[in-house]
Amino acid sequence: MAGPDSPSPASPGTASADALHRRGLMFILSSPSGAGKTTLARRLLAHDGEIRMSVSVTTRPIRPGEVDGRDYHFTDKAQFEAMVTGEHFLEWAHVFGHSYGTPKSQVKAGLRAGHDFLFDIDWQGTQQLYQKLETDVVRVFLLPPSIDELRRRLTARGTDAAGVIAERMERAQAEISHWDGYDYVIVNDDIDTCFAKVVQILAAERMRRARQTGLIPFVRGLMKPDS
Ligand code: 5GP
Repeated sequence: MAGPDSPSPASPGTASADALHRRGLMFILSSPSGAGKTTLARRLLAHDGEIRMSVSVTTRPIRPGEVDGRDYHFTDKAQFEAMVTGEHFLEWAHVFGHSYGTPKSQVKAGLRAGHDFLFDIDWQGTQQLYQKLETDVVRVFLLPPSIDELRRRLTARGTDAAGVIAERMERAQAEISHWDGYDYVIVNDDIDTCFAKVVQILAAERMRRARQTGLIPFVRGLMKPDS
């Protein structure tokens, strides 16, 4: 639950919003292309008002239908390099020939204020975020039910040439090899079931004791002898 930055002390025995203040979390969804990550991310953002997307910066060209500032902050190599030098990124990586990075702004202050962030980043970025902010990070990896199904999904998009699909398949297998760097692994054979699992993970992770920073004064209040 989002709350103010500095929660006021709770009245004894009252589970007020302040008392239940918690630190936000970084919810990372990674998967090979075609495993359903984008669909799930969109559903999660529409379903849950407490989580917001961390919008990455990228040097790759904008695709039809994408919106600058919503899907990515599109930039050029020089600007990206300047952001790297200026330490503006929490993490950054080269993926498929382009550079991608998570801007620091928003996320750090947002976490303190109790906001959760959703990250659609690859395994390299996941590793970097985990090294920096281990306790804030929840790592979820989506797997396709089979390689045939993955190929079918990549082909069904109908937007890419055969060579591009073959290349994506190769990359998908490389991405899958990093499955063991994640806390949760879900096989996406049914998008509704998969979505329900993602929602469950998020709900459970929000209840972690270490994240519920408002619990200490609340529990102290519960433990005060009756006066
Ligand atoms: P696409 O270009 O298809 O949108 O994304 C390609 C890959 O880059 C995806 O696997 C996506 O998760 C990853 N990606 C997107 N943004 C970032 C980022 O900020 N950091 C890292 N490390 N990977 C990212």
